[in-house]
Amino acid sequence: MERVVRKIDVFDRTWQDQANCLGVDPDLFFPERGASTREAKEVCRGCVVRLECLEYALQNGEKFGIWGGMSERERRRIRRARALARRRGEIASA
Ligand code: SF4
Repeated sequence: MERVVRKIDVFDRTWQDQANCLGVDPDLFFPERGASTREAKEVCRGCVVRLECLEYALQNGEKFGIWGGMSERERRRIRRARALARRRGEIASA
């Protein structure tokens, strides 16, 4: 079954106006290596633009911080899975 990944306009950052993290200390989303990401992920949990944020980070190759409620490692896993699915023809961009 082919899945579709919706491409976003990487220059459109209007979704950030609705971000749950507006006004939250940015350091929370860029913890030191090994530090807890729990608090940042809690902020993301109820964020209405979580998917936009995650796609933005994935499509911009953001290597650091919590985006869309996911850590670098979690995003790397998604990127790898998508690359594999693309190679197998299971995924298409819209
Ligand atoms: S998902 Fe998290 S990091 Fe992204 S905009 Fe929402 S609160 Fe901020």
